[in-house]
Amino acid sequence: MTKLRMNMLKLRPLLLLAAALLLSACATGPAKPTIDRSYTSANQDSRALFLVLHYTVSNWESSLKVLTTGGQVSSHYLVRDEPVISYYLVDENRRAWHAGASFWAGNQNLNSSSIGIEIVNPGYTDGPMGRVYAPFSQKQIDEVILLTRDIVTRHGIRPERILGHADIAPGRKQDPGPMFPWKQFADAGLIPWPDAAQVVAKMPLYAVLPPDAAWFQDKLARIGYSVPRNGELDVPTQDVIATFQMKYRPSDYRGVNDAETAALLDVATTPGGMLLAKPGLEPAPKPSSPPSSRW
Ligand SMILES: [Zn+2]
Repeated sequence: MTKLRMNMLKLRPLLLLAAALLLSACATGPAKPTIDRSYTSANQDSRALFLVLHYTVSNWESSLKVLTTGGQVSSHYLVRDEPVISYYLVDENRRAWHAGASFWAGNQNLNSSSIGIEIVNPGYTDGPMGRVYAPFSQKQIDEVILLTRDIVTRHGIRPERILGHADIAPGRKQDPGPMFPWKQFADAGLIPWPDAAQVVAKMPLYAVLPPDAAWFQDKLARIGYSVPRNGELDVPTQDVIATFQMKYRPSDYRGVNDAETAALLDVATTPGGMLLAKPGLEPAPKPSSPPSSRW
């Protein structure tokens, strides 16, 4: 055996070790930080400030397809109509793409700060009798109420921040539309509702002295809507009035600046005017202090 061959044999274990180390380094990839998860701060809250409700304008099969594949739209939850089941499509801590260009009370682009629920419903059809919206089944609404309560409780979402897509994009969007029973959400203690007694008391005044367009725009803006401030009852302003009516006075949502709408807006922007019912009970009597600073 030559001297060179003997040296190679001596080196062989070292070469094998070096190769093994190199292989293991490749398998684990680049170096990673050392993270210790032993401690958690008490000083934190949810990124979700809003809950936004939608209808899908489609049946179950195509709703699921659009919201889960290549359509550039998604939502955290999809509530099926038949059978009624809530599907969890996007992690609540991640951003779903459901709101689009949107605004509420100084907040923009609400995808970043909201959780979205899509409800399977065909939306509306325009025919000879005008625009007709499809109803929701009570079973589906009951499920949406249960899901909403679960989400807002876990994330600490405030009642006045449970909104419809139309609220944050009036004119551009109509969903969940006038067939969506927001009053049931109020009766369930999920959202505040204008005190009916105060609305009735204020209507006669507004029937005699109708407020001007600037007054309507001011009230709508104070509630949170994105509304023109030009003092004109233009189409964008009528769209916002119609959106407000779909929610609080769905029997007539033509966008007309009538006395009842004025009274509703007045009460909605008056401290103590918006009442929050206790869950499972009839709407609560008027509280001694406003239920929310936002209203
Ligand atoms: Zn929508």
